[in-house]
Amino acid sequence: MTDTAELIELSERRSAHNYHPLPVVIREAEGAWVTDVEGRRYLDCLSGYSSLNFGHGNAKIIEAAREQLGRLTLTSRAFFHDQFAAFAAGLGDLTGKDMVLPMNTGAEAVETAIKVARKWGYEVKGVARDRANIIVMEDNFHGRTTTIVSFSTDPDAHDGFGPYTPGFKIVKYGSADAVRDAVDADTVAVLVEPIQGEAGVLVPPEGYLRQLREICTENNVLMIADEIQSGLGRTGDTFACDHEGVVPDVYVLGKALGGGVVPVSAIAADRDVLGVIRPGQHGSTFGGNPLACAVACAVIDILNTGEYQARAKRLGAVLHERLGGMVGRGVVAVRGRGLWAGVDIDPSLGTGRQISEALMRRGVLAKDTHGSTIRLAPPIVISEEDLLWAVDQLAGAIDDLDG
Ligand SMILES: *Cc1c(COP(=O)(O)O)cnc(C)c1O
Repeated sequence: MTDTAELIELSERRSAHNYHPLPVVIREAEGAWVTDVEGRRYLDCLSGYSSLNFGHGNAKIIEAAREQLGRLTLTSRAFFHDQFAAFAAGLGDLTGKDMVLPMNTGAEAVETAIKVARKWGYEVKGVARDRANIIVMEDNFHGRTTTIVSFSTDPDAHDGFGPYTPGFKIVKYGSADAVRDAVDADTVAVLVEPIQGEAGVLVPPEGYLRQLREICTENNVLMIADEIQSGLGRTGDTFACDHEGVVPDVYVLGKALGGGVVPVSAIAADRDVLGVIRPGQHGSTFGGNPLACAVACAVIDILNTGEYQARAKRLGAVLHERLGGMVGRGVVAVRGRGLWAGVDIDPSLGTGRQISEALMRRGVLAKDTHGSTIRLAPPIVISEEDLLWAVDQLAGAIDDLDG
C-alpha cells in the first residue's frame, strides 16, 4: 500500500489514538532526510525526540547492528554474552561511573533510578521503611508508567490514571531554593532534567545544576539527572550537566543510546549506589541484550571521538543566532542549547500544530510541544546548508499563517 490517505485511515482505525501524528507516512530515510510513501522528501527536525542524534542509517551503527543480527540477538541475563562486558565498561567510562544497569525504554530506566534511590535510602542512608521521598520538578517529563505519571503536572499525562504512587514532592523547576526547602531527612533523591525537553526546551538559570549538586551533597541525597533527551551530544556536550561541570550521582540514559535502531536505556552510578541491587531485585528480559549492546557500543565509540558534540555546538550557535534574529517577527522567544531549540511562536498566528503543518507542507518535519512552541532538534549530521534552509522554512511557515 502506498496511498497516504488509505494508510493513515487504516492506522487510525486500528490503533489507539495515543498520538496525533502529522499526516505524513514515512517509508525510508538517510542522514537528516526522510522520504514518504509518495516519494516526497522532508528534513527531519525532530530526530525521533533526539533518538536519532547520529542520523538515520548511520553507517557505523547499522554495520554494528547487521553484524550482530547475524550472530546473536538474545540470551537473557540468565547467561553472559560476548557484547555485555564492552557495553558495561564502555558506558561506565563514558559516564565516569563504576557500574551500569541496562533496560530498554527511557521510562524503565527512570523507574530503575527510582527503585535504586529508594533502596539506597533504606540500606545506606538509613531512612525508615517506606518513608523515602524523591524531589521532582514541575512540568517534568520522565515517561509514561503509572509511577512516573503519578508525579507529572501535565493533566493529559496524569489525570485519570490514579491511584497514584506516593513518595514524590513536586517543586518549581529552576529554583534551587525550592529544592532546599523541600529536602528533609527522608529525602533520598532529586530527579531533574538538566534541560526540560517536553516542557518546551526549558533551560534553567545558569548555576541551577551546580546548586542542586551542592544541596544533594550537603544533605546526603542522590542527584539523578534524566539525560534521556538532553544527553549524548544534543546540547554540544556529552551530557547537558557538563555545561555546568556537574556530575550527578546517577545518569539516566535512553533514546540516542539505541542509535535510532533499537530501544536501549540504562542508568549509570558508582558502586556505593548501584551495589544495593542484588540478584532477583530488578531486571528486564530484553535489557542488555546482545543486539542492544552492540548498537550501544557503536554509539559510545561515536561519542568518544567528540565529533558530534563539537558539531552540535558549532551548528547550534548558527541555529540560535538565526532563530534569535526572528524574535519580534512572529517569534516570541527562543530557548535551548546546542542543536536543540524551543521556539515560541506568537500565539495569535496559530497553534503549534498549525505551524507544524505549515512546516510539513514546506518539507520540514517538526513537532509542537505545548501551546505554540515548536521544538527543533535535527540529527547532528545535518549540513549547515540544510539547517539554514530549515530556519528559512520556519520563517516561511510563519508568513504562510500570517498571510
Ligand atoms: C523520552 C523521555 C523519557 C521516556 O523515554 P521512553 O523511551 O519514551 O520511555 C524520559 N525522560 C525524558 C527526559 C525523555 O525525553
